[in-house]
Amino acid sequence: MAEYAKPIPVPSIESKPYWEGLKQHRLLMQRCDDCGKFWFPPSLLCPHCTSDRFTWSQLSGNGKVFSYVVYHRVYHPGFATEVPYTVAVIELDEGPRMLSNVIGIAPDRVVCDMRVKIIYDDITESVTIPKFTPA
Ligand SMILES: [Zn+2]
Repeated sequence: MAEYAKPIPVPSIESKPYWEGLKQHRLLMQRCDDCGKFWFPPSLLCPHCTSDRFTWSQLSGNGKVFSYVVYHRVYHPGFATEVPYTVAVIELDEGPRMLSNVIGIAPDRVVCDMRVKIIYDDITESVTIPKFTPA
């Protein structure tokens, strides 16, 4: 595997199960044991009902582009060969929104509400980044 030149995420105590799920190519998020809703980013209390009871549960990995921007400027040298690229807010079918990239399609063809599905980019032996591609 070639050396990875972009910043590598460092899991927090709250997000460790999320990153470990990605490593196994599973999208896991916290699901409230009381109200049943998912949430993201990880936190110790349900943002919907403030319960502290939750279960890490698998999501489908399917969703849609809620909003996006196209980066043309290189903000980090690790991205120098990738501009222009798409940074998008993905609204998952189960409700949560997450920031990611839409790949496998030219940035000028991405549109809001476009259906997307997750793909797992194994950037190192221990870290996997979730990205999305047209469904
Ligand atoms: Zn809740």
